[in-house]
Amino acid sequence: MRAVTNKRWFCSALLLATWLCSTVLAAQTFPIKDKPITIVVPFSAGGPTDRLARDMAEALRKPLGGATVVVENVLGAGGAIATQKVAKAAPDGHTILIQHIGMATMPTLVRKPGFQVDADFTFLGMIHEVPMTIVARPTLEANDYKQLTAWIAKNKDKVNLGNAGVGSASHLCGLLWQASLRTEMVGIPYKGVSQAITDLMGGQIDLLCDQTTNTMTYIEAKKVKAYAITSPKRLSLPSLSGLPTMQELGVKGFQVSIWHGTYAPKGLSAEVQAKWYAALRSVLTDPAFVKKQEALGAVMITDKRISPEEHRKFVLSEIAKWSPIIKAAGVYAD
Ligand code: ASP
Repeated sequence: MRAVTNKRWFCSALLLATWLCSTVLAAQTFPIKDKPITIVVPFSAGGPTDRLARDMAEALRKPLGGATVVVENVLGAGGAIATQKVAKAAPDGHTILIQHIGMATMPTLVRKPGFQVDADFTFLGMIHEVPMTIVARPTLEANDYKQLTAWIAKNKDKVNLGNAGVGSASHLCGLLWQASLRTEMVGIPYKGVSQAITDLMGGQIDLLCDQTTNTMTYIEAKKVKAYAITSPKRLSLPSLSGLPTMQELGVKGFQVSIWHGTYAPKGLSAEVQAKWYAALRSVLTDPAFVKKQEALGAVMITDKRISPEEHRKFVLSEIAKWSPIIKAAGVYAD
């Protein structure tokens, strides 16, 4: 009997020692020499999420000890495929996800997103927030928001609106906008907005609602027409300061801020999470990185939400905030 108890004790101690060793080793060896770090982006190359990830990949290299940081675009299902992929990846710190507000809206917007935010992910910290703009093809005859709504009413059932897939930020924005106008447009889904904006410029689609970090360059170059911004206040950037807020235009409660955060699969050790936190903090204070994002209308997260725990609390609060709004607007997607 005593021998059995001793054996059990020995086995438990051995298991504990093995776990401790692997945790310490993971922390010591992160990043693992010669193993690239992959930032998974749920949308196509050239869109706002992709651009942010590529800027981050560059800025992260130094704080991650010179590691190779690559971006992988995993497309489909409005970002759900990439999110599911990272949820199932090895929690060694070498695979992380950059995802936007979809992390909090998809669980209500889409009936089966295929991931559970709190159960499947280790939160790493938030990056920035960006308002959205309503933009149109350059040939659309409306010159302000009032004319735009009149044009939409006149062309009922024929107006089409691009999006980055069911559950994406542009999809959410479009659904809320249609609900506010009490109208339905024809949704044209893409696997990211880079192709949507190309088609918008070419006149293949009429409208798009997307982050300023994507639309601003095209607004400045007058390749698309812009009508409104979804921030609570106008932006002070010269090319966007003329854009009225939805609030100003009388569309009460239409405020959408697209925040972006970083995630690792659940099970990441506290040590590797701390290394990621330090690396992300250094990116958020990298003047070149910050300048580039702010020039595109983004507001860097500088408050407590840069910490993993506050990031987690914020995402859970966003799920609670958006769920009744989405339900009240009746804007579910199957
Ligand atoms: N901005 C897109 C969205 O609507 C995604 C992207 O292409 O970055 O979610």
